[in-house]
Amino acid sequence: MLTLQPETLSEIYNHAKSEFPDECCGIILGTETQEFVRKCRNIQNELHQEDPDTYPRDARTAYVIHPDDLIAIHKEADTQHRQIKVFYHSHPNHDAYFSEKDKSDAIAWDEPLYPGATYLVISVYDAEIRAVKAFAYDEAAKDFIDVPFSET
Ligand SMILES: [Zn+2]
Repeated sequence: MLTLQPETLSEIYNHAKSEFPDECCGIILGTETQEFVRKCRNIQNELHQEDPDTYPRDARTAYVIHPDDLIAIHKEADTQHRQIKVFYHSHPNHDAYFSEKDKSDAIAWDEPLYPGATYLVISVYDAEIRAVKAFAYDEAAKDFIDVPFSET
């Protein structure tokens, strides 16, 4: 069960709308009582332009977090004792599901890269958030499964 504060959710929903029709991406850091939204730069368009064979998709259907953003967030997590709680990204003009690519991004050598993290997928059509779903790695299933989430 994932719970997030209403302010956190509205911040990431606004992020999804502002990046539309591209995918937004980011991370939510947390402590016992606080949540911090860290919007990340999606470099998929740059990758696609430089190397379309390796990166056939552009940012409308894919995302790659800017490595500098990821490093900064890891540093913040370590120095400020904040947990990497959620990875979020949007699906513009698509449903909120955990795609095969989302799965392969979250797994390395058959193990989850961030075992404690939840992945939030936001379905956004134009200015409207249609659906939001949460997914987490399940040890027994050896796969990502839907997890319920709600506002605190
Ligand atoms: Zn996705």
